[in-house]
Amino acid sequence: MTVQAELIEPVKVAPYYKSTGKEVAVFEHAYKNLLPLLVKGPTGTGKSRFVEFMAFSLGKKLITISCHEETSSTDLIGRYIIKGAETVWVDGPLTVAVKEGAIIYLDEIAEARPDVIVAIHSLTDHRRELYIDKLGIIIKAHDGFMLVASFNPGYQKGFKELKPSTRQRFVALSFQYPEPQIEIEILVNETNVDPSDAKKLVAIGNKIRNLTELGLTETVSTRLLVDAAKLIYSGLPKRLSTKVAIIEPLSDEPQITEALTDLCNLMI
Ligand code: ADP
Repeated sequence: MTVQAELIEPVKVAPYYKSTGKEVAVFEHAYKNLLPLLVKGPTGTGKSRFVEFMAFSLGKKLITISCHEETSSTDLIGRYIIKGAETVWVDGPLTVAVKEGAIIYLDEIAEARPDVIVAIHSLTDHRRELYIDKLGIIIKAHDGFMLVASFNPGYQKGFKELKPSTRQRFVALSFQYPEPQIEIEILVNETNVDPSDAKKLVAIGNKIRNLTELGLTETVSTRLLVDAAKLIYSGLPKRLSTKVAIIEPLSDEPQITEALTDLCNLMI
């Protein structure tokens, strides 16, 4: 199994990120003190964007790995491959980051196979070392190396947990849905949508977020609101935009989607 590693060279244009608290300072100090960072919170709350933004502002390379249930330590550390008549070792993205001093972002780390957690163990404490068992060597991490992981807490069923002993190896930052005024600003900045429409979308988002009785596995994220705003800005009718970008991705149950459609239609 191979992973899709995205190596992002420091970019020239800053990714747009609207700070919602003290997270920028926390990241800077974690980096300065060689501490790994865990960003936790529901999907679509700006965790990845934040990490991209911080990599930019610190002028660092960022390697992002979207972890899934097949992601293994071999995918991250490296493997032997056959090249012609020879067998050559190829460093995986984690090894590259450790050697070059890049930021590695393990998105949804709890989804990965347990051996990934074992592999990062010695990187997340004072040792800052990576053990490559297939080569029988230990690599000391470059001073610029930083491990960042994201995690979606299992506050609702269906999410994998992260063991307390693993969590305690990280400095942790919690991400939540932003305050309405900030979320409106994000929508307008991301999509150029009219502020009055952004306001309505954020109101819809907050209304649905409060409908806990619907039992949705995940509720309306900022990402869904941004998608709806993009469709509206591009000229798709507003009600259709909210239906396809907000309601349909949330539920497949006709009763729920109908109720949410009625609700949205009253609000936009
Ligand atoms: P996560 O990694 O938490 O799943 P993302 O970082 O991918 O979420 O955020 C999803 C989208 O929401 C982003 O592409 C961006 O459009 C928007 N977004 C969310 N929060 C922010 C923020 N604070 N500043 C700018 N954009 C944001």
